[in-house]
Amino acid sequence: MEIYKDPEKTKKEVTELLQELIRNKCVNDGTHAEEMRNIETIARYLDKYGLEYEIFESTKDRGNLLATFGNNNPRVMLGPSHVDVVPAVDEGWEVPPFSGEIKDGYIYGRGAIDMLNTVAAQTVAYAHLVTNPEFKPKGTLMLGIVSDEEAGGKWGVEWLLKNHYDKWKADYVMTETGGFSLASGTNNVLMQVGEKGIYATKIRYEGKQGHGSMPLASDNALVKVSEAMYRLGNYNPPVEIQPYWKEFVNSFPISSIQKKLLTSKIFLPKIIKSLHEKGDPIAPLAHALTSMTISPNNIKGTIKFNVIPGDVTGEVDIRLLPGQDEKYAIKHIKKALGKDLFQKLEITHSLYYPGNASPFDTPLWEAMEKAVNELIPNSRITPLVIPAVTDGRFYRLKGAVAYGAFLFSPDESMKDFLSLYHGKNERISVKSLWLGTQFFAKTIVNMLGS
Ligand SMILES: [Zn+2]
Repeated sequence: MEIYKDPEKTKKEVTELLQELIRNKCVNDGTHAEEMRNIETIARYLDKYGLEYEIFESTKDRGNLLATFGNNNPRVMLGPSHVDVVPAVDEGWEVPPFSGEIKDGYIYGRGAIDMLNTVAAQTVAYAHLVTNPEFKPKGTLMLGIVSDEEAGGKWGVEWLLKNHYDKWKADYVMTETGGFSLASGTNNVLMQVGEKGIYATKIRYEGKQGHGSMPLASDNALVKVSEAMYRLGNYNPPVEIQPYWKEFVNSFPISSIQKKLLTSKIFLPKIIKSLHEKGDPIAPLAHALTSMTISPNNIKGTIKFNVIPGDVTGEVDIRLLPGQDEKYAIKHIKKALGKDLFQKLEITHSLYYPGNASPFDTPLWEAMEKAVNELIPNSRITPLVIPAVTDGRFYRLKGAVAYGAFLFSPDESMKDFLSLYHGKNERISVKSLWLGTQFFAKTIVNMLGS
């Protein structure tokens, strides 16, 4: 079944939709983003096709939009895709970051790959699928466009699943971070299947404040917390070779001996060390994807050079692999600090999500692989766990299968993308945007039938 009857016209449609979404400038500064502007753009687009949808306002000017078609199981969502973006300043950009200008075949602008591209592609795919009389899905097709991902999802997916789960529940969802090639020119497309969790740890010591001229009379909290931070920063949590890492490595164009070494608990740390010394950017990724990481990043409670601080808190960014949880984090914090120091400190957390991942032997995975092959023959898709969080985690915690999916042109590789996320000159080629738009339509046809 051909979904896009007039490809040139649809390509123009999705390009213009993305440009408008960029220009709406829904910047999330942590307190608000006025996403309703983008939600209204999506609503107007769906109106043109005479489609129904519902808007959920979580808090003033912060909108979320849901459209559904059919009413059987499984429930498959294009989305949740967020319409808020991170801030950008003009400096260092080739074109102003909210102009949505096209230059040399690329649409420039904040949100071009994170993730207004997906919002535009999924909206266009949804409209063309459900207005096609031949499309008779075996389940329910949903389009979910949301707010507030960039500040943690409090007024977006978290709020929606808490307050409107009956409408927003889904068995399969497709959100962000996927669809790029491992290396430029290879037909090996990465799709996100999981995310590392976060355990934002607070380490506090209450000592005794005093004057810097007579330190013996005090109990310096900075010294204690610094010691704890030092021990944590130098601790190496155990290496864990998970099935996702194995699949990822197996997709590399390298020899089988190299693959064995990269999936060996013993050799991997040595390889990472040597790659890192050579300045290879794959080293920090490989490190992050094969163990819990600990990064002591902040200290609060100091006053001035001659005041001995009596109450200091250190903040540590701990990231957990899929399957690792709070218990695991605490066990290793204790090991790193030693029993003696551990007992003297107050250890709490300000944010916690366990590591999470979806299996990749599902009907949606097959449907995506088939769609990719229809567009880029002889390609494969490879599961990727990312060292960051997306809205996918909320759905995984509800038992849904969540992937980060899209399809970029294979001449744009992972290395290019890593520098563009939240970076300067964020852009997507018109070619890739169109490829992604076709990918979503084909995936849904493969998944739900016609
Ligand atoms: Zn994003």
